[in-house]
Amino acid sequence: MKWYCAATVLEALDALETKRTDVDLPLRFCVQDVYRFDGRRIIAGRIETGKLRVGDQLVFSPANKSSVVATIERWNVPANDLAIAGDSVGVTLSEQIFVERGYVASHESETPIETNRFHADLFWIVREPLRVGHPYDLRLATQELKCEIVSIEEMMNSSTLERKIDQREQLERNEVGRLTIQTRGPLVIDNHDRIPNLGRFVLVDDGQICGGGTIFGGVYTDRQVAKSKNIFWSEGKITARARAARSGHRGAVIWFTGLSGAGKSTIAQALERELFHRAMHTYVLDGDNIRHGLNSNLGFSPEDRVENIRRVSEVAKLMADAGAVVITAFISPYRMDRRRAREIALEGNAEFVEVFVDAPLEVCETRDPKNLYKKARAGEIRDFTGIGAPYEAPEDPEIVVHTDQQTVDESVATILEQLLPRLRAEEANE
Ligand code: ADP
Repeated sequence: MKWYCAATVLEALDALETKRTDVDLPLRFCVQDVYRFDGRRIIAGRIETGKLRVGDQLVFSPANKSSVVATIERWNVPANDLAIAGDSVGVTLSEQIFVERGYVASHESETPIETNRFHADLFWIVREPLRVGHPYDLRLATQELKCEIVSIEEMMNSSTLERKIDQREQLERNEVGRLTIQTRGPLVIDNHDRIPNLGRFVLVDDGQICGGGTIFGGVYTDRQVAKSKNIFWSEGKITARARAARSGHRGAVIWFTGLSGAGKSTIAQALERELFHRAMHTYVLDGDNIRHGLNSNLGFSPEDRVENIRRVSEVAKLMADAGAVVITAFISPYRMDRRRAREIALEGNAEFVEVFVDAPLEVCETRDPKNLYKKARAGEIRDFTGIGAPYEAPEDPEIVVHTDQQTVDESVATILEQLLPRLRAEEANE
């Protein structure tokens, strides 16, 4: 009955657009279960869109692990080398990688988005209003996760079609809201206009379906899956939850971004001290320090900046996987790189929190703690962010501090207030 309601809501949403046939879309194979059978591991699921062939290299999200399809198994049907959208099949892989219910397989060239934060239009169908901050269960294909509504940016009354652009705290029955949603853990999605099947979801409260939504505005990144053939990721026996139980908090990546001189390093150090005093395992990865060692071979060209941030993301992920609260203090001027940093952290099952350390360029330039702006203005440094190179401010960070208006202590207090609840050990994944 419950699923009947969900299907009705989702069908209504789908009917709003002309559909391409599902077979022509990129592959999305949604894992329902993994069985052991005759000594083989069979990954069972439904092909929502696209085609899957024996010999295909698949990438499984959110783990971002890849393997080749060895066989396609079907029930009561002879084995076949091709399966298409709508088929429910079992797949065996040539290399054993960890896969579980909720994972989504795709081809390497057309991967979905992995995130824990996204935008959606949501249609609310029950009397009890949707509330910002209230925990809901989110179901999307075979994934089920806890989530909460971060904000409602806009709403439309579905009968009068009246549109209101105002921030609100709740959404009433029959209203459509434009929302930002945050999940506890990684979610694999697509924009609804690209792949409807992975771009729609339902929200469930206390076992009851309350609304259906469509996802928009997600950014696709270029995934780099381990390239070498003989590299295997060995799964540790100690879970993130076990580590969190011992240390009293979960691992996380706290990603600071902002102009040079905005206060990233200063606030990162002060935040680290606060966390340390709370007996937490914490460490600051600072731009300059990393450039002395791990990234000493990189400059400031766009390609080198991307590689700089990729390496930092990977290091931060490993440290967070080991249970630390890692604070990164890098300008990280490109939105796409920060998206990728989030994906990398989520692949490691770590919490990721983007903090925008915001101050106007004039303020940063007046502070100029390292005399870099002066050099940039004098033409001694080319490609300096804010002067000769762009800074793409975050559109939707979890936390913002305004260092032209807040003292260092006030910024730290703002961050702690929002951060500490997310680091609770109970929030850690299995
Ligand atoms: P970034 O790491 O973003 O390049 P830094 O932390 O190295 O920035 O430098 C910021 C400079 O601004 C420091 O010298 C710091 O003392 C000064 N500053 C002045 N007011 C503030 C504030 N409210 N918050 C953070 N830093 C401030």
